[in-house]
Amino acid sequence: MQKEKVIIIGSGPAGLTVAIYTARAILNPLVIAGCQLGGQTSITNQIENYPGFPEGITGPELGEFMQKQAEVFGARIMIDEVTGVDFNNGSPFIIRTHGEVFEAEVVIVCVGASRRRLEIPGEEEMIGHGVSFCATCDGFFFRDKDVVVVGGGDSAMEEAVFLTRFVNQARVIHRRDELRAGETLKKRAFANEKINFIWDSVVEEIIGDGKVEAVRIRNVKTGGTSELATDGVFIFIGQYPNSSLFEGQLEMDERGYLITDDHMATSVPGVFAAGEIQDPTYRQIATSVGQGCAAAIMAERWLEEQEKGRG
Ligand code: NAP
Repeated sequence: MQKEKVIIIGSGPAGLTVAIYTARAILNPLVIAGCQLGGQTSITNQIENYPGFPEGITGPELGEFMQKQAEVFGARIMIDEVTGVDFNNGSPFIIRTHGEVFEAEVVIVCVGASRRRLEIPGEEEMIGHGVSFCATCDGFFFRDKDVVVVGGGDSAMEEAVFLTRFVNQARVIHRRDELRAGETLKKRAFANEKINFIWDSVVEEIIGDGKVEAVRIRNVKTGGTSELATDGVFIFIGQYPNSSLFEGQLEMDERGYLITDDHMATSVPGVFAAGEIQDPTYRQIATSVGQGCAAAIMAERWLEEQEKGRG
């Protein structure tokens, strides 16, 4: 069993900020990065609202800067996935990955959230064959094609606008007649000639033989259904917290978000959480970074108290 002082689970903006702060506090943190280094940032195209970058910055670039900054101060980043944890007996905590078992004096959980799925026929089978949750990753494959974008929030608008660099046409299908997205992205989407809107409608089925050919849409006001030919379906209908690993170990709300106090502490002393795993409200890179900073400071203080207690 490998013994560690600080283990950070997750490598999005929250996790990497914890790594920067705890590394600078000479706590020699180990980041277990998961399979997507950089978290959701790595699949975000342009970031325009993170302070310090007046021209904007791409998600992968920002993630890489954060990673490098953590490594400069000595944080170790390991690409592996946590498969199980045991927090029930207090510190030191047990963390299992595919390859190893660790003991950690303090743990900071920064595992973030994942894109929600429509859970309709055709969706699962055609992921990678026309169904996508990431315009940055897959937009290029839809050059001069017609795609639909499902959702009415900031992500849907941002990704629809990005897709118009490649596609012939992006049709946004939204279940209401009003967007949830903020004013800036809303205006940008309305002004884009390649984006059209299909209001009050939900996608009930993704149709295709091995690859996407059409979607079946239902108008929620009239009940009428129709088929719309399309080459791709990009789904941006929100997120869910990646908390299943912590069921029975850490307190969470009815949606699965970890419950933390004002000091980023979870229900288990010595286990802290930061970023979207505990934040159903703000879900911004800037807030995740702030929460990561706070969690790192509190984890450091908690360790100090434990050491004082041991005399
Ligand atoms: P979101 O704000 O939760 O929006 C999800 C959208 O999907 C809503 O329009 C919702 O419809 C729709 N939806 C949910 N479930 C659906 C279903 N089963 N079928 C059809 N439509 C469904 O999620 P998000 O857009 O991913 O944004 C998440 C957070 O990140 C937000 O806080 C957002 O502000 C932030 N964000 C910010 C930026 C930026 O500032 N540049 C960019 C991206 C994301 P209703 O509207 O009817 O509920």
